[in-house]
This record gives sequence, C-alpha cells and structure tokens, in this order.
Amino acid sequence: MVGRPSIDPLRLARVLEPKVSRRREGVVERKYYRFRAARWYGGIVTGDVVGCNLRCVYCWGSRVRGADAPNSRFYSPEAAFKVMDRIARRRGLRLMRLSGAEPTIAWEHTRELIRIACEEGYTFVLETNGILLGVDKGMVRDVASIEGVVVRVSIKAATPETFEILTLAPKEYFWVQLNALRSMVEEGMEPGEDFYPAVMLSFNTDEEIRWLMERLAEIHPALPEEIDPEYVILYPHVVKSLKAHGVKPRRAFTPDNVPVEMI
Ligand code: SF4
Repeated sequence: MVGRPSIDPLRLARVLEPKVSRRREGVVERKYYRFRAARWYGGIVTGDVVGCNLRCVYCWGSRVRGADAPNSRFYSPEAAFKVMDRIARRRGLRLMRLSGAEPTIAWEHTRELIRIACEEGYTFVLETNGILLGVDKGMVRDVASIEGVVVRVSIKAATPETFEILTLAPKEYFWVQLNALRSMVEEGMEPGEDFYPAVMLSFNTDEEIRWLMERLAEIHPALPEEIDPEYVILYPHVVKSLKAHGVKPRRAFTPDNVPVEMI
C-alpha cells in the first residue's frame, strides 16, 4: 500500500463549515443533496449531506465530500425534518440518520435536527467518523443529553498506520476516533445502547484486528462485542480510487453483496 497524509481533518472541517452551512435569521442551515428511505437498519430515513473532513480512499460518496454536489441546497433543521418525517410516515419508518458525508460539521444544525426528531419520537442514528466528537467534549455532552440518539462511530481502520493510508489524515487522528468512544463512556453513555463502534475491517490482518479489540476493551470491556464490521463495497469508482492509491483490500463485497476474498 502507498499513501501519504495530505489533509488535516480539523482544519478541513473548519474550511468546509462555512461552505456547507450558513446562518439565516439565527438558524444554521446545512447543505443536502438528497433525502431517501434506505434499507440499512431494517429501513431508515436518510438525509444526505455535503462535506466531509476525511478523504477515505474507499469512500463511496467521494463525489459529495467536498463543498458542493449537484442539486444540493440549504435546509434548516426544521425543513430537513419535515422532508424526512414525510418519508417516514409514507414508509412506516421510525429511524432517521444523516449520511453521504460527515454530519458533525455544522454541529448546531445537526444537534437541532436530532433534537426535533427525538422529540417527535424517532430514533436518530448519528453516523460519524468521530473526529470532531473526539476533540470536543461539549459535542459529546450534547449527544449524551438527548434521549433517542444512538451514535455509530465509524473507525476507519484497525491500526493507526492503516488509518493514515486509508484516510489521508495523519495517524494521530486514529486515536482521536478512539477518544470519541472514551468520551462517551465518560459521559455515562452505554456501549451497545447509546453508542457503538463500526470498524472498517477490509484492509487489516486478523492480528491487527485483535490488536484493535484490545484497545477498545481498554476503553470499555463491552466495546469489542459491540463492533459493527464494515467492508469496502467495490463500486467502479471505489475500485478506481483504490487502484490510484495503490491500496488493495483483503476482504470486500461486490455492489450485489457478494463477499470477495482478495488475498
Ligand atoms: S468519513 Fe465517510 S464520508 Fe468521509 S471520506 Fe471517509 S468514508 Fe467518505
């Protein structure tokens, strides 16, 4: 594998925030490019946002992680909720999430959307790369104070070295992701109930994965049991990106959900 860190995720978040969000009459609006019902979690209403502070080489949404995307426009938390609520009622769904890019950028917007959704009785799955949660205890306290939110922190690799190759961010940020989990434990959130780690397992050896389990167990003994495994999906643009970065997965799935062992 080849690859060098070329981004600073905290700086990138700061640069992106004014481009993917704006304040109108005291309300923070975020840029969305789509709303839909998705099959994950047994059915979940999804708002797809623009802008992410990592540059994962296996990202399926690489076309929307910058500051713009075709057909994107700004929504207030209330306007986004209305669209999502309409889809939920039509499809009989009780779960909501933001996807596409990183929802913790423009946190004031997302916090308000989560609050509205949870007050209306929905469960909100906050899918995040955890970088901003890992450096901002206030954000973790916000999440811990809302009933009905479940945080899914997507750990991008099983080791700091692989994290650096896969995300193009310095390996120190691997530990920031783990710190997000630690902060949630410290804020009294329950692993498996209030939050859990998802881990990209496509690129590491079994030994490296065991090493990560030990690090997770140091944070909370229940965490290794709560892992949601993630594997790269070989969409044509993902395959192209992996090749361009000289990165080869060990295990992957085709877009039709067929497992592929590559080594
Ligand atoms: S964190 Fe997610 S959205 Fe962001 S670059 Fe990585 S895979 Fe893509």
